Amino acid sequence: MTAARGPGEANGPAEANGPAEANGPAEANGLVQARGLVRSFGQTPALRGASVSVAAGEILAIMGPSGSGKSTLLHCLAGILTPDEGEVWFAGRRVDTMGEAERSALRRERFGFVFQFGQLVPELTAEENVALPLLLDGMRRAAALTEARAWFGRLGLDGRERHRSGELSGGEAQRVALARGLVAHPEVLFADEPTGSLDSMTGEHVMNLLTAAARDHGTTVILVTHEPRVAAYADREVVVRDGKVGSLAPDPLVTSPGLGS
Ligand code: ADP
Repeated sequence: MTAARGPGEANGPAEANGPAEANGPAEANGLVQARGLVRSFGQTPALRGASVSVAAGEILAIMGPSGSGKSTLLHCLAGILTPDEGEVWFAGRRVDTMGEAERSALRRERFGFVFQFGQLVPELTAEENVALPLLLDGMRRAAALTEARAWFGRLGLDGRERHRSGELSGGEAQRVALARGLVAHPEVLFADEPTGSLDSMTGEHVMNLLTAAARDHGTTVILVTHEPRVAAYADREVVVRDGKVGSLAPDPLVTSPGLGS
């Protein structure tokens, strides 16, 4: 209804309309915000009033049991799914009311994605997979491949550039998928169980690389995981239960001070 105004209107003045909100505190004017999301699949409710705010540069872990609504929340935040009710905002723009073409441009130009099984295109080489977002964005092939190759050394993938996905280990494929998610320097990286198909050592390696790359570039990361070990890489954790978001932060009234490290 109030499409011209950002979600920060309850908290403060004009920042909600401009890029300045990216620099503000999460609660006042997050880069990515959801308010009161409701989403069902047929008779199955997935979200029942989920709200979350993610600051620019923050790494947020969305935790919770299987089926609680984590992926649905992530897909709504990323403009992949449209909520039945509620609002999604990115950088002061209302996402859930955009048309499909505008949402698709937003995803292509400003978001990156990493999914559980990497989902590399099997017909393409590893370097072509990484270059894909740049090619889709109109970059010339030679330039896109040069950008793509720069990721291989950094992610410990030297020599894998011309391999196809069937010739890569699970950990290698997921690092290629990570490079593809980051190659276009997205403002937000959406990661859905990015280590879910990996053993714990390989998963930790991928998470170290993911968080280091995100911090180097100031990329905001929204990460769905059910593993506390993976969530520990985040700056903050929230938990989804029955389609609603709660905080994992300990209650200061019941936590004894001075017991930690
Ligand atoms: P999580 O990521 O926490 O495992 P999901 O968001 O995937 O949870 O799912 C939340 C609920 O919505 C579950 O009951 C799930 O079965 C249902 N759901 C999710 N996606 C679909 C879909 N495409 N079709 C039907 N039901 C779905």
